[in-house]
Amino acid sequence: MYRLPYSKNDNPNGWIEVTSHCNMRCEGCYKGIDRTDCIPVHEPIEKIKSDILSLKNIRNCGIITITGGEAIMHPDIEEIVSFVHSNKLKSLIHTNGLFVNEKTCARLKNAGLSGFIIRIDIHNRLNYKNESELNALRKKYADIVHKVGGLQLGFTCVVTKNNLIQIPNVVQWFQQNNAYTDYLVLILKREFSFDSYTPDVSKEVEVTELAHTLKNAFPDMLFSSYLGSQSSNIGYKWVQTAWFAINGKTLGYVDAKTVEFSTALGHFRNKTYSYISGKERNKLPVMQLIAGSLFLPALKPVLKRYVAEILKKPSTALQSINHQVINIVNPPSSRTSYTDYCDGCPDAVLHNGKLVPSCTLESFLKNQPK
Ligand code: SF4
Repeated sequence: MYRLPYSKNDNPNGWIEVTSHCNMRCEGCYKGIDRTDCIPVHEPIEKIKSDILSLKNIRNCGIITITGGEAIMHPDIEEIVSFVHSNKLKSLIHTNGLFVNEKTCARLKNAGLSGFIIRIDIHNRLNYKNESELNALRKKYADIVHKVGGLQLGFTCVVTKNNLIQIPNVVQWFQQNNAYTDYLVLILKREFSFDSYTPDVSKEVEVTELAHTLKNAFPDMLFSSYLGSQSSNIGYKWVQTAWFAINGKTLGYVDAKTVEFSTALGHFRNKTYSYISGKERNKLPVMQLIAGSLFLPALKPVLKRYVAEILKKPSTALQSINHQVINIVNPPSSRTSYTDYCDGCPDAVLHNGKLVPSCTLESFLKNQPK
């Protein structure tokens, strides 16, 4: 696999947490919002703007990820998005989806939003029996975002032993819906200690377990890039697989060389790393596919399958080739005696002017001596 070259000062992402208000109470929320002692507050707009400028300066980032709590509940969410846009950065809102409707999508798109990442899984949608049932809800949101158009769409799914074997059904749905979706973030649930609470780690899934589950269901799947660990000599904290797709069919997975080439070329062109390559959805122009297949072996079968699709159904030539990515996130676990952060953590937040990984910030604050 190709090790993604992210570092503190050259990183695709700047992470901001604009509110601790939320209209859900997901168990084990990384921000501790499910706890009774969490007092909800909206961050002041001037602080948010100043953090965005600092992140742009410190991180050289191409994207600002806007999170909460439920980010859409911030009363100045449009102003925040528009400020990100006016600073020539892309923005992704992480949301539980409850406020995502056509009106909100259109409003935020007009403010300059690049896309949504919506968390849906059996741990935050307790009325659903399994992940397959939730695919209908994912499709409902995909239809809304697609109707507004010009926005990227990703889904987050938290993985534990309770839904591990159902994850291939989510991946299959994601691949079949390539016309609507760009990212699937599979987050391995980790529990952290708050005050005297002892975390229950019995449902935690290892990154290798999830990778094997996917590989068994999709034998052609290639894991092509990763982020290493800050503490172990060899560790896999982010693991990614990416492919090109059209008509709900996978044309071929990209290999490590292709990711390395496109990452380096993107940085050379834009002077920054970014997961968002174009103005709207992540697409592969046909001319780039033809040129790339001359020297990147993984693109040859993609080109062949693309041509075969056109021969089968000529109207395919009018459609775009989509680029989809699965990102497995393996946050630090309390099972180890050390906190094993991701190398070049893309989701670090500014706390008192210092970058700290967002995954453990709240438990770190709660555990500070009073
Ligand atoms: S916030 Fe934690 S899990 Fe997320 S990238 Fe950073 S270290 Fe990894």
